[in-house]
Amino acid sequence: MSEQPRTATLEKTYDPKVVEDKWYSYWEENGCFAACTDRERPPFSMVIPPPNVTGSLHMGHALNNTLQDILARYRRLKGDNVLWMPGTDHAGIATQNVVERQLHEEGIDRHQLGREKFIERVWQWRRESGRTILNQLRRLGASCDWSRERFTMDEGLSRAVREVFVTLYEEGLIYQGDYITNWCPRCHTALSDLEVEYEEHQGSLWELEYPLADGSGGIVVATTRPETMLGDTAVAVNPEDERYRELVGKEVILPLMERPIPIIADHYVDMEFGSGAVKITPAHDPNDFEVAQRHQLPAVKVMDEGGVMSENAGRYRGLTREECRRRVVADLEKEGRLRRILPHGHSVGHCYRCRTVIEPYLSNQWFVRIKPLAEAAMAAVRDGRGGTGSRPGTAAPAGKSPSAARTRTAAPTAAAPTLSRKPTSLTPGSPRPSGPFPPWAGRKRPRSWRSSIPPRCWSPASTSFSSG
Ligand SMILES: [Zn+2]
Repeated sequence: MSEQPRTATLEKTYDPKVVEDKWYSYWEENGCFAACTDRERPPFSMVIPPPNVTGSLHMGHALNNTLQDILARYRRLKGDNVLWMPGTDHAGIATQNVVERQLHEEGIDRHQLGREKFIERVWQWRRESGRTILNQLRRLGASCDWSRERFTMDEGLSRAVREVFVTLYEEGLIYQGDYITNWCPRCHTALSDLEVEYEEHQGSLWELEYPLADGSGGIVVATTRPETMLGDTAVAVNPEDERYRELVGKEVILPLMERPIPIIADHYVDMEFGSGAVKITPAHDPNDFEVAQRHQLPAVKVMDEGGVMSENAGRYRGLTREECRRRVVADLEKEGRLRRILPHGHSVGHCYRCRTVIEPYLSNQWFVRIKPLAEAAMAAVRDGRGGTGSRPGTAAPAGKSPSAARTRTAAPTAAAPTLSRKPTSLTPGSPRPSGPFPPWAGRKRPRSWRSSIPPRCWSPASTSFSSG
């Protein structure tokens, strides 16, 4: 009797689950993606743009991680010593929002809980739920060296951030200042322009009359946010506007606050809009802030960080901005200063996280002087230094975490001579601290995270594991 022929059944449909899980586990268990110290092979390293720890995979991740994976795998096959370094970004406010929602379900407010306990809850959330996106990257087949996974809030990275921050400060590239930002009164944070979502809103245009201080009449201004009038420090007209030429330099009395404020002339004012005269509220409007800078006008903040009227709002102190608007309009009407209310459609900015209406708000923030950084980056692209490590030796060697921060900031300095200025002191104008600065300077560097890397390294040339 002849032997039975060996048969195998091929499933009609491809089931990726069986194949992908099997091979990904194999790759991971055998350290196929692990980099090591190996000076024989050209290094090729990439840091993943760290996805938010709160995130889950979307098409953008799928695209950019696939491109990185292609690069990593191509280089590995060419025999390079490849490190594709994975990690997650703590995404401060996004994470805070997630944890706040959890607390809300338990009937707890984060302010009741206190800072320490709240931070502990955030870490607990990160331990329990912060791995979704990393597991999704595994499902994509991303060949990251998971043994080196980092989190932007872990000790080594926090130190690196502080070091970069202080270095940039010393090089005069970051500075603090009072500027108008998009402020979310619920999140208590400034938002970038990209984080503000605009919605068309059918509102009103209130026309108010401010009486001239000399009693010779009044001037009409129009506003979509009447509550901000409490912080007005001028009325502006266009210098070309014949109607107001005589009034420039005179003063009006700000209704409800009974404060004299000047009438100024500035080309910012659109003669065609409303009456052609506008109220200037430097602390609550970005354009008004710029006008105020040009005319040295004071900025009066009439709201606090929570959108509640401050002591500068006089008798309206303690009201919410919405309630204040109703009271201000009613009081202006009582005093005969409300000329008319017109329907007015305009776009209103909302916080993209919590949908709260954004308040343009004067606040003290950190800013980065981008121009010299951009010039250095553009110069690198122009003279061909801006590739993805296509020349041997240009990729950063693996395993240089904490000191890499200094190295990276030093690179553009070398490229752009304008940056190599003397370090400035921490507070401009004050003497430089006599002790070591930053405070951790001269101390032993944090324990190298290299020690946590498994002592093995995979090389396609040897197809075996060598100690690293
Ligand atoms: Zn918000």
